[in-house]
Amino acid sequence: MKPRKPPAPVPASTGPASTGPASTGPAGTALVGTVLARTVELARIPAPTGSEHDRAAVVRRWWVEDGWQPRTDDAGNVWAQAGGGDGPGLLVCAHLDTVFPATVPHVVVAGPGRLSGPSVGDDSIGVASLAAVARLAAPGAGTGPLWLVATVGEEGTGNLAGIRHALGHAPQPVAAVIAIEGNYLGRVVITGVGSVRWRVSYHGPGGHAWERSGAPSAVHAAAHAVAQLAGLDVAGARCSVNIGTIGGGEAINARAREAWFEVDLRADGAAALASLVEQAGAIVRATGDQIRVRIDEIGSRPAGGIAESSALARAAVAAHERAGVLAELRAASTDANAAYAAGIPAVALGVTRGEGEHTPEEWIETAPVADGLGVLAETIRLFREGQQ
Ligand SMILES: [Zn+2]
Repeated sequence: MKPRKPPAPVPASTGPASTGPASTGPAGTALVGTVLARTVELARIPAPTGSEHDRAAVVRRWWVEDGWQPRTDDAGNVWAQAGGGDGPGLLVCAHLDTVFPATVPHVVVAGPGRLSGPSVGDDSIGVASLAAVARLAAPGAGTGPLWLVATVGEEGTGNLAGIRHALGHAPQPVAAVIAIEGNYLGRVVITGVGSVRWRVSYHGPGGHAWERSGAPSAVHAAAHAVAQLAGLDVAGARCSVNIGTIGGGEAINARAREAWFEVDLRADGAAALASLVEQAGAIVRATGDQIRVRIDEIGSRPAGGIAESSALARAAVAAHERAGVLAELRAASTDANAAYAAGIPAVALGVTRGEGEHTPEEWIETAPVADGLGVLAETIRLFREGQQ
């Protein structure tokens, strides 16, 4: 690949002219400018899942500059209390980690009306927005605490380790969680798609393909299971089964001693996911006497959700309406999943629009950011009003 020249620095004036609530007046414009400058700063730092420390250090520095006393917890999440007093708190989070290895060039290019580069939308702008959202929501002393948390371990193999730890160690009870996912302004995620991932391996006695043609084959057992898994379904639920990788065998003329595959099971409800997992387990384990099967769980995300009529969902939808942004209720897999599993209401909301997440060609628009910040802050205010 050709070496790229370093991107032009992004001036604070990159903030767009918009009629959104966050951009009302010079203070709002400055806030958007800061969010965009921070997005660029963060996205230039590699942060594959499990190696988020460099981004975490930058976030701590920002939040000290913002006048808070940030701390890092045992999982590596960065916390700040951005206002409020005692009682159940509101936790607003965005994730530090990305799907990109450090070897991918982390170059951010600022073009007219957009930023491009790995992780700009997922989730650099989410993390960069946390402080601005707290400023706009202006939590007063009469409310519960507003915690900002930059989480680790949200992507793939992270299994939501950061948010799970945060919810298990919050200083006071958590009334609700708002997870920010940068790219999806207008998407109100109230359903957490759950998943279970297995690596399944089969072991058999092996033998000559002709002389011992009656001997069981690990490849045949795995293939038989895969064919059945691919047809699985749960009535009345949206679910998916994906066998993403497969391998095994030793020689074309030998009964296979070993075979394996990796399967990802997903569903949009806890009961549906449990049913899918149970059916898949029965299929995988149904082998003959001489074949041993082993299942290693390599991932698990709880499914769950909140009702459209719940206070948090209504606050989020009303906040979009006030900003003139069309709200769509959706299902996705985010940090909010961990909240559902802990019995805490949660939504995932966007900041701006963009595309190409999980590819190096990822980009975001800068013009909708003001609206996005306003919607997030308004969601917090409306939810708080309803709590009182
Ligand atoms: Zn994300």
